[in-house]
Amino acid sequence: MTFSAQTRKSTIEQLKKQTLDLLIIGGGITGAGLALQGAARGSQVGLVEMQDFAGGTSSRSTKLVHGGLRYLKKFEVELVADVAKERAVIARNAPHIVQPDYMLMPVYDEPGASFNTFSAEVALHLYDYLAEVDETWRHYLTEKAEVMEDEPSLKAENLLAGGYYLDYINDDARLTIETVKKAHESGAWLANYVKAVGFVYDDKGQIKGIKAMDTLSDESFDIKASVVVNATGPWSDELRKKQRDENEKKMYPTKGVHFVVDHEKLPVKRAIYTDTGLGDNRMIFVIPRGNKTYFGTTDTPFEGPYEDPEITQEDIDYLLKAVNHRFNVADLSLADIESSWAGLRPLIRDEDNSDPSGISRGHEVFLSDDGLITIAGGKLTDYRGMAEDTFTLIDQQWQKEGISYPAKDTKEIRLSGGDVEGTVPDFISAKRARGVFLGLDEAEADYLADWYGSNIDKVYDLADKAKAMDIPLLDALQLAYGLAYEMVMTPEDFFGRRTDSLLFNIDKLERLKRPVLLYMESELGWSRQERESWSSHLTEQVAAKKLVHLKNNK
Ligand SMILES: Cc1cc2nc3c(=O)[nH]c(=O)nc-3n(C[C@H](O)[C@H](O)[C@H](O)COP(=O)(O)OP(=O)(O)OC[C@H]3O[C@@H](n4cnc5c(N)ncnc54)[C@H](O)[C@@H]3O)c2cc1C
Repeated sequence: MTFSAQTRKSTIEQLKKQTLDLLIIGGGITGAGLALQGAARGSQVGLVEMQDFAGGTSSRSTKLVHGGLRYLKKFEVELVADVAKERAVIARNAPHIVQPDYMLMPVYDEPGASFNTFSAEVALHLYDYLAEVDETWRHYLTEKAEVMEDEPSLKAENLLAGGYYLDYINDDARLTIETVKKAHESGAWLANYVKAVGFVYDDKGQIKGIKAMDTLSDESFDIKASVVVNATGPWSDELRKKQRDENEKKMYPTKGVHFVVDHEKLPVKRAIYTDTGLGDNRMIFVIPRGNKTYFGTTDTPFEGPYEDPEITQEDIDYLLKAVNHRFNVADLSLADIESSWAGLRPLIRDEDNSDPSGISRGHEVFLSDDGLITIAGGKLTDYRGMAEDTFTLIDQQWQKEGISYPAKDTKEIRLSGGDVEGTVPDFISAKRARGVFLGLDEAEADYLADWYGSNIDKVYDLADKAKAMDIPLLDALQLAYGLAYEMVMTPEDFFGRRTDSLLFNIDKLERLKRPVLLYMESELGWSRQERESWSSHLTEQVAAKKLVHLKNNK
């Protein structure tokens, strides 16, 4: 089933005409999860996203599906139990994206250490127990010598031991788009670049739709719905300000940044979760990905434009200091940072707690007097649970209108691309021959099968189209598929969220930018000015990711 610019056009026409059962505002993982659940239940669901799908926090996380080991220290046992169990469900439904691996938590003897050897053992045991981890992936602790043999890039001084435990590597933007695609397949109407700019009220003062704007064409129109859900993450308060009588501040967005360096500069073998060692009671992740390593994150209160939170020199100084302190690396500096991203945690304001790291990562669903339902807070990992909780309120609102749909457990729903038979490595081997036959090398074929999962044959079916482009075959296949099946509307959608080039292969853009833009111009019917404007926008994005403004200050 295609999901293209053409689909977007017909979706918008449909959204204008129909009165939906449910309209979701926000196309991050939370909105996408709601759309999937609503469509799976058979209701008429629409979703609008003002940027691209996953354009907000859902492409800017640490890219893990995890239960939050750290929260055990704050005795958030229930939260950890719910979220940690959910990891296996997501991995089963999107095995091509979410993959289990042992992470390493080194234990140091130093002031302010999060864990000592004893408490690390207790915490990891509890983490496994709460998540119902089976024998295959049980945690274990090793002594210093073994940790150093396994991970020589760590500093040995004061190291006591290492805890190895199960968590899951993820790609947040891919998980979101595969959820969006599955929701579309299940009958939901979803459009990116459509912004909710106001609400439509009935004569009893109840919200019965939105005033929408297509941000690509500037066209304004209304969308009518029995129930409207605000799933705008960090923007929740911004949207609530558009209600007639809502002013209460609920959100406390905090910024987290990540940096990407060449793997040789920070050659970790596995994901590491470690105290910074700076005595600030914080932990950081250092994660290998292909021939890069990324690390983060910070947690600071944020004010400013939410679309692209600015990375400051303080963010850089802090994370470089932590990494240089903890790892045996030739001093990493700003010049080594190849790419970067910053995201806003959609945290719920806690009047008793001003320390960002101390605020709960739990979620809240609430109903305003005018009928708007808001779902805020939470973790990407818990998106299915958040959708379930939101549907409790949606069902109550539907009931008032005589609307009812049978419940559906989304636990069993495979996301788009998730119908992988057997293990992922076996699946990749089985698909290799077709990729090689079409002209890819083995590594490229494996990469694509891993990236697209059970959609890989649809990707390969576009080979004739791809070969006609003036673009290397792997990228051409991704572009053809993105345009036909993943609603790519802008170059940044393609380079930043349908592929990960903007983050993990940014130099590739130099070569690809022009031919990709020319192809998009012809496929999407842009004028030359439009192409030039998208080109400038992409150039700005690349410079921002590379932190050129800060590098130039040095
Ligand atoms: C640095 C960092 C690291 C993290 N790491 C992890 C992790 O490893 N694992 C994990 O599970 N969680 C992690 N999280 C948390 C997780 O990323 C978020 O909880 C999750 O992505 C939030 O998703 P969301 O859909 O609620 O919000 P968003 O992804 O921000 O989606 C909201 C969407 O609403 C849209 N929107 C806003 N206003 C409007 C409007 N008026 N009309 C239409 N659309 C609108 C926005 O454009 C946006 O795309 C991390 C968060 C941060 C910041």
